[in-house]
Amino acid sequence: MKFSNPFQKKSGTEAKVVTRIAPSPTGPLHVGTARSALFNYLFAKHHGGLFLLRIEDTDRKRSKKEFEQDIIEGLAWLQLPYDGFEKQSLRTDIYTTYIDRLIDSNKAYSSKEASKEDPTKTAELIRLKNPNKDITFHDLIRGDITFNTAELGDFVIAKSRSEPLYHLTVVVDDFEMGVSHIIRGEDHISNTPRQILIQEALGIERPSYAHLPLILAEDRSKLSKRHGAVSLSAFKSGYLPDAMINYLAFLGWNPGTKEEILTRDELIKLFDISDVQKGGAIFDIVKLKAVNKKYINRLDREALQERVISKLPTRVKQLEHFSEEILNSALPLIRERIKTFDDITALAENGELDFYFARPNYEASRLLSKDAHDLGQVKVYLETLHSILGSLDAGAFSEDSIKAAVWDFATKEGRGLVLWPMRYALTGLAKSPDPFIISEILGKDETLARLSAASAKIK
Ligand code: GLU
Repeated sequence: MKFSNPFQKKSGTEAKVVTRIAPSPTGPLHVGTARSALFNYLFAKHHGGLFLLRIEDTDRKRSKKEFEQDIIEGLAWLQLPYDGFEKQSLRTDIYTTYIDRLIDSNKAYSSKEASKEDPTKTAELIRLKNPNKDITFHDLIRGDITFNTAELGDFVIAKSRSEPLYHLTVVVDDFEMGVSHIIRGEDHISNTPRQILIQEALGIERPSYAHLPLILAEDRSKLSKRHGAVSLSAFKSGYLPDAMINYLAFLGWNPGTKEEILTRDELIKLFDISDVQKGGAIFDIVKLKAVNKKYINRLDREALQERVISKLPTRVKQLEHFSEEILNSALPLIRERIKTFDDITALAENGELDFYFARPNYEASRLLSKDAHDLGQVKVYLETLHSILGSLDAGAFSEDSIKAAVWDFATKEGRGLVLWPMRYALTGLAKSPDPFIISEILGKDETLARLSAASAKIK
């Protein structure tokens, strides 16, 4: 027979490698699930195979449409396209066929048992006849794993012919969808022997297994809500999807290359499941930010400007001298100061960007540097700076020409004594970039105007 499973028959594909991510829509897409999706994607694409998405919504009570949406949007944001999509709630008939097959072949039976919810009533349960044997499976990351299944007893696989439970649906779907490799979190290791028993009862081929290490918080406990953001959507506003992909790829995997900034194509090329580690992988937000910064540094000016504009509070965009031109000149300085796009909002809210777009407000005494006490002297410095810069050509008013013009004077008088008031006059901030680059961004007229305004403050 040409096709080995229903999926290949239906789609006509003969892909040897088919992987899937099978999230339950009972909460927003967790970063751990996103990491599993990525590993499944990289593995499939490395082998020229297919990556599928299956929404496991058999638990009707806990499954929510909004979470399904969140999962789909999260994968779209990460740009992890899937080659096929299924939803368990639409597949009940398929499961019923398999349940019937198990019952008809005497591998499973239906029994009437006291209901858990109400012991005075009986409920139907369908149980697999457990052959009570050792199951050994090979895990591509962990090697051979053996379980004695006797203690599982005749476990329940469905509540009724039309109400299948998790273990059954996973086995049926992975077979029906032609999944060759099941790559999932290590919390599923103990589910594997049950699922293998069901496969054996149905006489279907066993897929390959790989169980990924858990994602841990810095305190080495399992990453959860109390450690901060764990849903992927929380990262959308501050991070670039490529940075997120690059970071997630290294959560438990390492290709052994020196370079840790890798494109998707490079990741696909290098991905080898046997390089995945067994031990837990620590989710390190500092590292993630550092990776994001590298991607922000590579962003072209236009794209960065767009992000900055979208993050600036309206108050800043309404400042008197706000213009896209000034913003564009300030872009390199803003870029230097951010690791995530949310940092832009934080800088703006701290008033650290106002000076680009409005004249600063400050007390004259702030023009005195730490070791200066003579405001009269400061006034003379400001006036001298005004006249030095006034003689520069407006068309060549650049960081370098400004610095060259001012340098000898500042050196002679004491750089701190001269450059502090110059910078303060321009920004009104105790901490800011150097006054030469600020002067260039503000332009000649505005720089001179701010120097005059500062000296006018000194009576
Ligand atoms: N639906 C399961 C979960 O969300 C995953 C099942 C599997 O990967 O086999 O944990």
